Amino acid sequence: MADAQEEGEGPRCVGCGGRVKTLFVQYSPGNIRLMKCDNCKAVADPYIECEFMIILIDLILHKTRAYRHILFNKLSIGSSVDKVIGDALVGNIIFMIMLFLGLRFILKLSFDITRYREVLFAVIISSYFKLFLFTMMVWEFPSSVIFIVEMFVLSSNVVALRVVLQFPKAHCFGVCLMAHAAKCLTEIWILRTP
Ligand SMILES: [Zn+2]
Repeated sequence: MADAQEEGEGPRCVGCGGRVKTLFVQYSPGNIRLMKCDNCKAVADPYIECEFMIILIDLILHKTRAYRHILFNKLSIGSSVDKVIGDALVGNIIFMIMLFLGLRFILKLSFDITRYREVLFAVIISSYFKLFLFTMMVWEFPSSVIFIVEMFVLSSNVVALRVVLQFPKAHCFGVCLMAHAAKCLTEIWILRTP
């Protein structure tokens, strides 16, 4: 994967941000040698051999090196990340539109900007499980895990809505389910459209 260097693309050294030809050389499965950066002479990307948790901690600690690893050496390699992020964005917009339409017209929530802002905040906070979905674009997991994470997001959205709006649980579940279904259908539709 590291030799997929094209014009203006390709891996970078996480230390200095300079371009490198390749991040590692693989001799046999599981037996790799990390390459050094020509510019700063340090190992170009030591995160390649790191556990996911270590990278996550460095991301939380705002370490530039970890962000370079994710943005240049992980996300830019291989699959069309633009499409993944684009799909997620469209899906999330549909989700929010359906959620607000459901609240306004099915649950008859009066239009009050502060209240809707609270709903938006609650939904964002309760969707933190999606962080795991984001990491799944980088580290591959079986699709059943994605489904389980979606279910977690759905149930935590319901709890958050119930706390903010004090509507019955079934009502919150109905609206959230509708919004999630619309989002999933949109994503499936986008994926099937060439
Ligand atoms: Zn360097």
